[in-house]
Amino acid sequence: MTGADNLRCPRCQLLMRPEEYESHRVQFCSTCWGYWLEAETLQAILDEHQYKFSKGERSTLMALMRSAGDIDRSGRESELIDCPQCGRQMERRKWIDGCPVEVDQCPDHGIWLDTGEIKELQIFAESRDKE
Ligand SMILES: [Zn+2]
Ligand SMILES: [Zn+2]
Repeated sequence: MTGADNLRCPRCQLLMRPEEYESHRVQFCSTCWGYWLEAETLQAILDEHQYKFSKGERSTLMALMRSAGDIDRSGRESELIDCPQCGRQMERRKWIDGCPVEVDQCPDHGIWLDTGEIKELQIFAESRDKE
């Protein structure tokens, strides 16, 4: 459960705050703009597609996603981080097979998304549905 309040951002160690993301409850870090959420919540957000991207937005983000592979998340973003709920080191893995976006996941508690990753996943889910 991410129902727990007073969780600290795994990157900044600052308190996250509960937020609504497309009517789902998530924890948001207003310093690094990352999201902490349950795997089921992320799945629901991706299934619902409440937010429709414009063509321009989509192509910009798709281009970013393609170049992200080359850039190789340098610096702090490549560091493994700890689960805000149990403190164990999270696994970095692709969200699902074939997905270019890697997320940090605690198998028991949830998923950490760095800024922008939630949108990248939404675009990925949307383009996958069209195929
Ligand atoms: Zn943060
Ligand atoms: Zn955990």
